[in-house]
Amino acid sequence: MHTFYSDGSDAPESVVEEACHAGLSVIAITDHDTMAGVKAAQEAAVKWGIEVVPGIELSTEVAKKDIHILGYFVDQNNPAFAKKLEEFRSARFARIASMIENLKKQGVNNLSFEEIKTEANSDALGRPHLAAALIKKGWAANYWEAFDKFIGEQCEAYVPKYNQSPKEAIALIRQAGGVAVMAHPMVTNRDELIPSFVEAGLGGIEVYYPNCPDAVINFYEGLARKYKLTMTGGSDAHGKNKTNTWIGKRRIPCEYVEQLRARAKRPENFV
Ligand code: AMP
Ligand code: ZN
Repeated sequence: MHTFYSDGSDAPESVVEEACHAGLSVIAITDHDTMAGVKAAQEAAVKWGIEVVPGIELSTEVAKKDIHILGYFVDQNNPAFAKKLEEFRSARFARIASMIENLKKQGVNNLSFEEIKTEANSDALGRPHLAAALIKKGWAANYWEAFDKFIGEQCEAYVPKYNQSPKEAIALIRQAGGVAVMAHPMVTNRDELIPSFVEAGLGGIEVYYPNCPDAVINFYEGLARKYKLTMTGGSDAHGKNKTNTWIGKRRIPCEYVEQLRARAKRPENFV
């Protein structure tokens, strides 16, 4: 799940409270490029009697295609990991600044960097924050129109994020004690790359995802078995920022969490 430290709408404490009300006993906070929400979520989780798995969602690129790699049970205090996240976040700053410049060339001339920063609660700036500013200034009627007209991958003003390969992200997560998991493969639509990710040390795949037909889920269950990957899943909730999913929309049994935990503790048992 995402919090307002990246592109979610809610504070980590609210996410935990809502998860508890939804009857979930374990959740993972997986913000983009930041673990700023994990500690607060874990503290709130003690109060609500649930568990928060520390997580992250990293962006990677293969031939211009954005591929998300999740890290579960990563140690956020791992120095190399923390340093890299900081680098990613400063690259996000530079990227949003150049997108503002590109938009200016198209006549969108009243957006300021400071203003977009106020849309975000941390330094993991992203296009959703830019979308919010475009809507406020009347350039787009809604979030989807903002992506469609101005900041989608197909748009002139679009600038890609930092360039990291899936292999690098997988190694980074593993050296910080985490399990690397391919996020929402049914959305990414690059199944042909999965064997190379497995070769690089991928430990899991997000099989259970909201708004997905059973046949698709069955297909990824098959792939997980074939490559001996741990199956994961969840709602990918972003609060009000994504209305087609919410906390508790996709649930999985706790045994999957235990498999993931075992894999993080003893990766050598899973090769
Ligand atoms: P960024 O990490 O800054 O590239 O922003 C990526 C986020 O923007 C994704 O996680 C989605 O939430 C959102 N997003 C990307 N493409 C679209 C789109 N075409 N329509 C709506 N939201 C999108
Ligand atoms: Zn994602």
